Amino acid sequence: MPYLEVRKLEKNYGDFTLSASFGVEEGEFLSIIGPSGSGKSTLLSLIAGLESPDGGTITLGGKDITKERIQDRGIGMVFQEYTLFPSMNVEKNVQFGMKRKEGRKETTTALLELVGLQGYGKRSVTSLSGGEAQRVQLARALAAEPGILLLDEPLSALDAPLRKSIRGSIRAVHDELGITMLYVTHDREEAFAISDSVMIMKSGKTVAMGTAEELYRHPKDLFSAFFTGEGTAIPAHLFYENTSGCLFFRPEDAIISEEPLNPAAYSMHIIMNDAEIVSAEFMGSGYMLGLDYQGYPVLCQSATKPRRKRVSLMILRESAINL
Ligand code: ADP
Repeated sequence: MPYLEVRKLEKNYGDFTLSASFGVEEGEFLSIIGPSGSGKSTLLSLIAGLESPDGGTITLGGKDITKERIQDRGIGMVFQEYTLFPSMNVEKNVQFGMKRKEGRKETTTALLELVGLQGYGKRSVTSLSGGEAQRVQLARALAAEPGILLLDEPLSALDAPLRKSIRGSIRAVHDELGITMLYVTHDREEAFAISDSVMIMKSGKTVAMGTAEELYRHPKDLFSAFFTGEGTAIPAHLFYENTSGCLFFRPEDAIISEEPLNPAAYSMHIIMNDAEIVSAEFMGSGYMLGLDYQGYPVLCQSATKPRRKRVSLMILRESAINL
């Protein structure tokens, strides 16, 4: 049985219905991604006990916590907004939720060190930068020794370089303590970089769950395919007789040729001859080319910018997924 088990969990808000079933193993770092309004925060609120579900169960460590009070669930939370007490210094904020009386000072010192804030104990929280405040929130949530930590877009108010550095710290804390974490973000790169596994939500439903690589390499539906990165979806019948749906492939899987290609000579590949380049964006590592193939848009990554306007593409058949 997974450490956290969410079974047939339901919540209705007017037109919106959340329904979710999934499990998280002990010590796992799961990111939850999805468009705005897909139900990510609602899901975390239900797990935390901030909202009560209309149906279903939540089990943590073998115990049914569906009806448990917030403070009895053993769940820690870190949100985007800072919820620190301005009248207390950093140390007092961290100690606020500590259960144990003994060793408070040592634990505080260790936690501040863990989140990269050694020596900050006596500082006023009003003097902290956004990134430091977020680190204090993390330390405070950990001080209560939760069984699981829920993080709801904790970095979205911070600028990009700071986000990168703090997400590294969060992952380091996870690895050091082995604590189970659920991390909500709208930023798929962040989710890919930080997690063991990723769950994609759409309109209140879980549409996919797996490692970042599985979701990126083997998407099961077009929504997940495009939500995890760029790509091309083109009608499958252009390449396979009697095949419905689309072929989906990533830009890096399309190889460009300035000479026409003979399909008979490339049985392992899908060939697109006479594709017209309509855009070329320089990305540093190469170009992202936008092409038109028989009226369909196609994306292709290329190390150099082709000299010709009309080119050919080849894609390994196994890299083009029928969705
Ligand atoms: P996300 O976190 O993915 O952006 P939310 O969980 O915040 O999505 O919201 C999902 C849907 O539930 C939205 O349509 C939102 O308007 C609705 N919703 C969330 N919380 C409430 C609430 N307390 N009352 C009514 N509707 C809500």
